[in-house]
This record gives sequence, C-alpha cells and structure tokens, in this order.
Amino acid sequence: MKYDYLVVGAGLYGAVFAHEKAKQGKSVLVIDKREHVGGNIYTENRMGINVHMYGAHIFHTSDKEVWDYVNNFAEFNNYINSPVAVYKDELYNLPFNMNTFSKMWNIKTPEEAKAIISKQANEEIERMKAEKGTDSFTADNLEEQALSLAGRDIYEKLVKGYTEKQWGRDCKELPAFIIKRLPMRYIYDNNYFNDRYQGIPIGGYTALIEKLLLIGEGTEKVSGSITVKTGIDYYDFVKIEGNVPAQPLSSVNGDEFDNMLFTGMIDEFFGYKLGTLEYRSLRFETEDLPDVDNYQGNAVVNYTEREIPYTRIIEHKHFEYGNGKGTIVTREYPATWKHGDEPYYPMNDEKNNTLFAKYLDLAKEYPNIQFGGRLGAYKYYNMDQVIRAALDMVK
Ligand code: FAD
Repeated sequence: MKYDYLVVGAGLYGAVFAHEKAKQGKSVLVIDKREHVGGNIYTENRMGINVHMYGAHIFHTSDKEVWDYVNNFAEFNNYINSPVAVYKDELYNLPFNMNTFSKMWNIKTPEEAKAIISKQANEEIERMKAEKGTDSFTADNLEEQALSLAGRDIYEKLVKGYTEKQWGRDCKELPAFIIKRLPMRYIYDNNYFNDRYQGIPIGGYTALIEKLLLIGEGTEKVSGSITVKTGIDYYDFVKIEGNVPAQPLSSVNGDEFDNMLFTGMIDEFFGYKLGTLEYRSLRFETEDLPDVDNYQGNAVVNYTEREIPYTRIIEHKHFEYGNGKGTIVTREYPATWKHGDEPYYPMNDEKNNTLFAKYLDLAKEYPNIQFGGRLGAYKYYNMDQVIRAALDMVK
C-alpha cells in the first residue's frame, strides 16, 4: 500500500495528527506497539466502569479552541477534580486551601491561616540561617525550599512523604528548583485545577480516540483515510539495523510512505547514539472489587506518608458518578525508569533538555520525519497541550 503518512503511536498526539491529515485528504497508516489505541489515556470498560489503565486522567484546559475541538469527539461530564490526602489517620482536602488549613489548625479565617503559615515559614528560615551561619537565606534543597514556603506542618504532613515517593529520594537530596512555589488558596475551594474547562469524556477516552481515528460507526466523513494497526512495534516494522531511521522513508515492510510522524522516544529512535534521556516510570496495581460499591468515596486519594509505598489510589467509577454494583481501584507506585519500562514522565531538567536539543538538531537531517507528543517532543504535556501542539504541527 502507498500512504502519505506513517504515524507511529496511536496516543492522543498521533490520533489528532492522523485525523487532521485525513481531513486534508491524506492517507495515513497509524501503528502502535501496544495492543490497543489511546496510548496513556486508554480506558477499558469493566463491570460497567471505565478504568483509566495508565493512571487518572482528568481533562482540563483554558484553551477554548482545544476545548471546542475535543468536544467534537466526546461529550464531557461535569467532573471537578477534588483530591483528598491521607496522612496517618488524618484526612485533608487538596489543593492547599481553607478547608485544608481549617482541618489542620482548627481555624476559620484566611487571616488566621496566613498568620500561621507565615509564622511557621519564618521560624524555619531563621532556624536554617542560624544553622548555616548566614544572614540571608537560600534554599539548598527541596526540603529547605518547602519549609521556607509553607512551614513545618504542611511540609511534614502533605509534601515530604509524597514527594520522596514520587522521586524515590529524600527531600534533602532533591534540588530546590523542583518546587518553585507552593500555591496556597485562601478560599474554601477544593477544585484542584484553575482552568476554565474541565471534565471526563462520557464513555471513556478510548471512544474519543476511536472517533479521532475514524474507527466505528458514525465517525466524521473525510476525504482521506486512516488505517490503524496495533501490536506492531516500529522497529520490527522497519526491520533496519541499529534503530537508525530509513532515509528516504519510502518502502517499509512492503508499504510506502512519503512522511512520518514519530511519537515514541526520540533517543530510542536514534539508537541512543547521543546518550539516554531520563524518564520517571510508574507501576499500576488494579483491583476489581465486585462486592464493594464505594471503596473510598472519591476518585483520587493521595497517600502522603512515606511508609505507604503507593502515592495514590484511584477509584474509577467516581470519575463518571457511577452508582452501580462493584468498584475498581488502582494503586499507583512511582518507579525509577530503566530500559524496557514505560517512560511516563520526561525529566525536564537542564541536563536532559540539553541532550534533547541535540537530538532535535539530529532530527533536522530527516526533513520527512516529524517528532511529536510527550515522548517525541520530550515535554511534560497535559492532554490539552498535546492537542494544541498536534493542531499547530498540522497547521
Ligand atoms: P502517549 O500516550 O505516550 O502515546 C505514544 C504512543 O506511542 C504509545 O501508545 C506507545 O505505545 C506508542 N509507541 C511508542 N514507541 C513505539 C514504537 N517503537 N512502535 C510503535 N508504537 C510506539 N494529562 C492531563 O491533561 N490530565 C491528567 O489528569 C493527566 N494525568 C496523567 C497521569 C499519568 C499517570 C500520566 C503518565 C500522564 C497524565 N497526563 C495527564 C498526560 C497525558 O497522558 C499525555 O498528555 C498524553 O497521553 C500524551 O499523548 P501522546 O500521544 O503524546 O503520548
């Protein structure tokens, strides 16, 4: 077959790109090494519940064009993310807001909360200055930074253990810049995101991706076409030595292409020849509980003490206000990434960003290959940013 485009990766980026190209009349072949489409936003329906198989995904944006775009492919419910945090036998609302402060210190007014936070933060700053023997304060690590911003109570109960689990390191060994600020909301408002639009697609994210990929009944009529093949790794597909891209990208495995979009890891694509980019990974443990109707009363519960190995438990039915029988929960364990693991989060520090820039320079030698998405662009994109970037690339 002859296609205008080969898209590697049937995640959100690849799906938006393929959709827009098909609308322009192009023929597109989309391949993915996983057995399903959707990438990390893939949802699977079990017991009537849409399970977020790669972690909780809440769509939120202030980009009206992106919101209007995504609403062409799904109807969104009115879910508002309001996570709670469990620390030992105490329970707090997130993000840090008057509900959190009132529970922590048994107070009512913003003035009381501000006074306590500022007093605790100043005490910590004075203590650290005295210990270092300096007149001015500069945070040397994440612990010092968080203590100077939020004081002891918030740091110990809500920041320390969670952050240490996320990064797999003691807060004293983490750089201060990871926490630039700790936003405090002095109103009673548990809405985690500040964005104008928010929700969960009714029927799950996989249905949204399928609509983008023109799979199934009732999809948009377009002049081009999309062919989707799952369970195919690009490197098996091209069967070339050393993971170096074919140039020109013409005949691959009997199929012919003029152009390619690659949404996998850019360093892997070039056979790691300039070095290996770093990622953080996760492990998910999902449990079906057919005899429990409501396990934790909220979609997202964070566990902020270090002794509990997971960072959060997701109860999927609450994303869609489900009230049927049974429930499904997922425990999320942060993990250090090594070759072969899923690279969930790019580590956008200076070292990795510099290396990524070198890969981008190398990519310029292959004008018929574009790189995009969380892995191809090595960016900590949310879903709305992925859509925005894919639409911009097509433009
Ligand atoms: P991906 O979804 O990673 O898709 C890339 C695809 O390429 C994958 O399917 C992969 O299998 C395929 N691929 C890679 N290499 C190859 C190869 N060699 N051959 C064939 N196929 C290949 N965003 C939000 O807006 N809200 C949230 O609440 C939110 N929560 C998140 C929670 C977690 C735990 C994670 C990890 C991310 C979260 N995100 C959230 C971000 C969101 O998941 C991403 O923005 C989005 O999924 C990225 O889409 P993508 O297409 O760029 O990448």
